[in-house]
Amino acid sequence: MTTTPTQQEAEPDDDLDSALVTARRQLERAATHVDVDPGVIERLKHPTKVQQVSVPLERDDGSVDVFTGYRAQHDDVRGPYKGGLRYHPEVSAEECTGLSMWMTWKCAVMDLPFGGGKGGISVDPKVLTEDETERLTRRFAEELRDVVGPTKDVPAPDMGTDAQTMAWFMDAYSMQQGETIPGVVTGKPPVVGGSYGREEAPGRSTAIAAREAVDYYDRDLSNTTVAVQGFGSVGANAARLLEDWGATVVAVSDVNGAIYDPGGLAVHEIPTHEEEPEAVLAQDAPETISNAAILELDVDVLIPAAVGNVITADNADAIAADIVVEGANGPTTFAADTILEERGVAVIPDILANAGGVTVSYFEWLQDINRRQWTLERVNTELEEHMLEAWADVREEVEEKDLAWRDAAYVVALSRIAEAKATRGLWP
Ligand code: NAD
Repeated sequence: MTTTPTQQEAEPDDDLDSALVTARRQLERAATHVDVDPGVIERLKHPTKVQQVSVPLERDDGSVDVFTGYRAQHDDVRGPYKGGLRYHPEVSAEECTGLSMWMTWKCAVMDLPFGGGKGGISVDPKVLTEDETERLTRRFAEELRDVVGPTKDVPAPDMGTDAQTMAWFMDAYSMQQGETIPGVVTGKPPVVGGSYGREEAPGRSTAIAAREAVDYYDRDLSNTTVAVQGFGSVGANAARLLEDWGATVVAVSDVNGAIYDPGGLAVHEIPTHEEEPEAVLAQDAPETISNAAILELDVDVLIPAAVGNVITADNADAIAADIVVEGANGPTTFAADTILEERGVAVIPDILANAGGVTVSYFEWLQDINRRQWTLERVNTELEEHMLEAWADVREEVEEKDLAWRDAAYVVALSRIAEAKATRGLWP
């Protein structure tokens, strides 16, 4: 059965969709497209476990603060839980649960032997010194020690955390276990078991998805214009690769606004968020526009790669691009998705487009277990292969069932998870 909610049935955007609400709605919608036991769908609406821990921190001035940390473990039928740890004031059990569900689908659509996890600490990392962040991370690792591990749950960097955070986490865990266990986390610096190409991977996969979508719709990348919202790790890497492959990137933005040159920007010369934060507006360009306006530019491909919930019921009618490639997680609300589908705008979903990050995390985990580092060339070659396989699997559902790309990606993911659950059975 293939039913698609109409625009009238779509929920208004005034709640701006929490991750958990969106994840459950998307699961219910995907369930209408696949022949899956309703018991399996019911099980997937609930996380296996959500761990809440207190993380006391001695501040540099000797005072003590206590923060709350979480680790949501959604489903592990296909392998260990996998997903980021974020340090952000809005981290909550509910948010982690929703994001962990997305990770389950993302790993399954990429056919990685992982399930979904997500966690973090409700803290503003900007108010912590480096020493305080290290102590907080080490204590958090200790509090989570029983529930993480290379065969149980493998965290990675996320908002507010980075490769150094993962190195501290790995060190704390390893010290307590009495041996060096690099595979407990991914996204580490290469010198302690990290993978080359990990940092660039979500941007690379976003660029690959854009390239394949352009090809699918019988266009030529050399005649394709691209706008990228968010010139950070994902956005800048995607923009630069697409430029290398012949596309014309006409607009990019950061949190302060966007620059626009209809003739094309030299994106390799614009510093990324990491290289020089918020430098986009300082670049020479004929026009400066707002972050709202960049989304509505008349380009062939729009890549929202900054934050979630930027394409909503309020602006979905004004999106002029023919193809939207989701570099960010959750940039399109459920209601906007329906509007874009009715307008014939192809939306390549986050769980496919930016899945290069978790895919190279999987390569890192393999390298750690095998104690053998891969070259950057091998990482990029295998990432390309994984992306093309996932793209082909999703495309097959798009064509066979006449589905939107997001629904098709969910069908691929859900079918794999449901088959694994049916084969393993329900204990007891
Ligand atoms: P980043 O911090 O490197 O860059 C974010 C960029 O977005 C910066 O240029 C920042 O100035 C800009 N920005 C921030 N708020 C904005 C706003 N309200 N409007 C417009 N621009 C804004 O972040 P990143 O790692 O590139 O992540 C971007 C998105 O991609 C997030 O949704 C993240 O969850 C998702 N993602 C990241 C990874 C990863 O491994 N880096 C993997 C998968 C998905």
